[in-house]
Amino acid sequence: MSDTIFGKIISGEIPADKIYEDEHCIAINDVNPQAPVHVLVIPKRAIPKLSEATGDDQALLGHLLLVVKKLAAQLGVAEGFRVIINNGKGGGQTVFHLHLHIIGGFKMGEGMV
Ligand code: 5GP
Repeated sequence: MSDTIFGKIISGEIPADKIYEDEHCIAINDVNPQAPVHVLVIPKRAIPKLSEATGDDQALLGHLLLVVKKLAAQLGVAEGFRVIINNGKGGGQTVFHLHLHIIGGFKMGEGMV
């Protein structure tokens, strides 16, 4: 397991507001939300960033998007949300364990992140 904060959350070493878990990923509420809904979907496999994903990760990456879809519906934002993956320092990534942000609940054109 990676030594990032997300690796520690996945292993249970540090707590988080977990809203979903399956054998491949977890989803937690972001500790510093940028919108009324701000959830992070985090694979248990510790891929540092999207640009390091390989063909072996194909099924996992598809799974993560389907979890995003399911959670967006559960969170009541299915009609309007964003999925963001920050890649690398230049892309604004701060935790080097791949994760997808689900951002929603804002009025379109407001609360942009
Ligand atoms: P990045 O900038 O890497 O794409 O996003 C990292 C995100 O993780 C940020 O939105 C930040 O607020 C969130 N984050 C960092 N540490 C923690 C934590 O310990 N718990 C939770 N729930 N979110 C965290």
